[in-house]
Amino acid sequence: MEITGIWYNGQSSRGEQVTLRLSAAGHLQVENAGEMVELEINKLSISTRLGKTPRNIQIPSQGHIQCDDSELLDSWFPKTSVIEKWVDWIERRRSAALTAAAITVAGVVLFYFYGIPYAALKVAPMISPKIEAMMSEQVMNVLEMSSVDESSLPKERQAELQAKFKALIKGLDRESEMKLLLRDAPGIGPNAFALPDGTIVVTDDLVKLAKNDEQIVSVMAHEAGHHEHRHGIRQTLESAGILVIAAAVFGDVSGSSLTVSMPMVLLQNGYSRGHELEADDFAFELLIKRGQSPQAFADMFKLMQKELGDVDDGDDKVANYLSTHPASLERIRRAEEAAKKMKK
Ligand SMILES: [Zn+2]
Repeated sequence: MEITGIWYNGQSSRGEQVTLRLSAAGHLQVENAGEMVELEINKLSISTRLGKTPRNIQIPSQGHIQCDDSELLDSWFPKTSVIEKWVDWIERRRSAALTAAAITVAGVVLFYFYGIPYAALKVAPMISPKIEAMMSEQVMNVLEMSSVDESSLPKERQAELQAKFKALIKGLDRESEMKLLLRDAPGIGPNAFALPDGTIVVTDDLVKLAKNDEQIVSVMAHEAGHHEHRHGIRQTLESAGILVIAAAVFGDVSGSSLTVSMPMVLLQNGYSRGHELEADDFAFELLIKRGQSPQAFADMFKLMQKELGDVDDGDDKVANYLSTHPASLERIRRAEEAAKKMKK
């Protein structure tokens, strides 16, 4: 129960090796080559514990004793200030603190990848259709800049496709919100997209590119999947992050800042890979239910890919929203697998 230290008495620069002990009376005994002095603890002061640095015991008018840090010192010298106690507590739990920090970081990362999409999934149904409508209008406004016009397909052809769309979505949860817009939009080529309010846009070029109506319907099924799964709102919430989700839950959902920022987020980021795959799965299931093979989706996808090429222009907002990326090959493969399963 003793500590060794070096006493710098303030008169010579050389220190003398000493042994420290606590006496029965509670005094600090300092032994130096057989000589012993007793010092009253409450007249001494000790430097704060700071990592592994040596501690200094100040002795009034007799210099100081430097010694390695030791648990004993803490039991001998009562803590004076709250801050000192607190710093000491943290120091002693340095590894615990680091562990806590690591857990926090891991938590944030997990939350980012799983928590936010989950929160978005749960919050999306609470967002009023009015918000979805406002977002859609603004997305449409942006798209209209790349000249989206009324379809130039013959009226009978349009009616035919409208009827096929109605039959496809019949009985879906959000059927009443969905409507098909056929549009002449040379700027975006053979394409289709779903707006958050359930509007599904299919371009004339896509209709013309398709080899048969099943291919067109398969794309409609995919877009219907985006609406059924509320991907418009979910994607926006996920991209905008937890603050917007919190605002949507606790704040004024009709708040203008929310609706203004949402369409831009959507246009800039497009749908995530996860959402695309989810919409694909929805489409395959729906097509099979309607007695149609998902092979049509794979075929249409191949045609679109060939026609559109790599729509991977990072700066083009419209291209991002319409992009069939990422992993188009993977999506074709999945469609073909779904088709094979159907045949069995
Ligand atoms: Zn999609």
